Amino acid sequence: MDIRTIISKTDNYNLHAHSQFCDGRDSMEEIAKAAGDAGMEYFAFTPHSPVDIDSPCNMKISQMDEYLEESSRLMESYSPDMRILTSLEIDYLGDDWGPHIDYFQMLPLDFRLGSVHFVPNQEGVLLDCDGRFERFLQYLKHGYGNDLRYVVEKYFEQVLMMLERGGVDLLGHFDKIAGNASQADPEIENQSWYEALVDDVISHVKGADVVMEINTKAYADKSRFFPSDRWWNKIIEAEIPLAIDSDAHYASKVTAGREEAFARLREFKSIDDLKNNRSLKNNRSLKKQ
Ligand SMILES: [Zn+2]
Ligand SMILES: [Zn+2]
Repeated sequence: MDIRTIISKTDNYNLHAHSQFCDGRDSMEEIAKAAGDAGMEYFAFTPHSPVDIDSPCNMKISQMDEYLEESSRLMESYSPDMRILTSLEIDYLGDDWGPHIDYFQMLPLDFRLGSVHFVPNQEGVLLDCDGRFERFLQYLKHGYGNDLRYVVEKYFEQVLMMLERGGVDLLGHFDKIAGNASQADPEIENQSWYEALVDDVISHVKGADVVMEINTKAYADKSRFFPSDRWWNKIIEAEIPLAIDSDAHYASKVTAGREEAFARLREFKSIDDLKNNRSLKNNRSLKKQ
């Protein structure tokens, strides 16, 4: 079953979760149990994909068979109550490494989650801009010559390139860079050049037949979703399908932030419906005249 069908059928799904195969803190077994207990009907594992650079947070190619086997074992043991999906959160590093390459396209995955975490600096060195703010600040100062706008623009450029190269079914946390960037400059998301980058992503996704994720992992600590709810109106107006995912790294967090995101999304959608009904009525009364 494809992810569009899943998200249109039920809210009891989660399409983004980590485990012992990358930087998750609990095993797939523990996480699947928590997901089953939470009443999930569909639950996907998405270890950070292998990458062709050194990265302790990503799984190794040598672990792939073991991962696929563990996923099938759990799929069988939870069927038919909960359907387990096998996926990867695939890093886009550039032309040579991303969801589009043969290696990821040939793997027996149910869908491909594409995300950007690594941003090349001015010399082309890839630095992991996700994670702790202190590390981001070090990279900003010593890796990117203190040019915050460069990092942000390059991050979004990577997202756009990933979409252009294709092979992505679900776009992970497309403005994740804003987490660290807005801590470095709280005004950054208010800049018109920043909003233009967001608009660009939204129009690319609309043309790309890709589901967009609302990532709720940071909601409990930072009261924000990725993408930020300041952009949800635009996304809803573009009629892009949205999947709400916890990006859990712990069994205890399989549903973290999801209820809040669904509630917020319903508010946005009811405003959108009101607007549409109103313009429909206006059109009808115009026609009558
Ligand atoms: Zn991610
Ligand atoms: Zn993730």
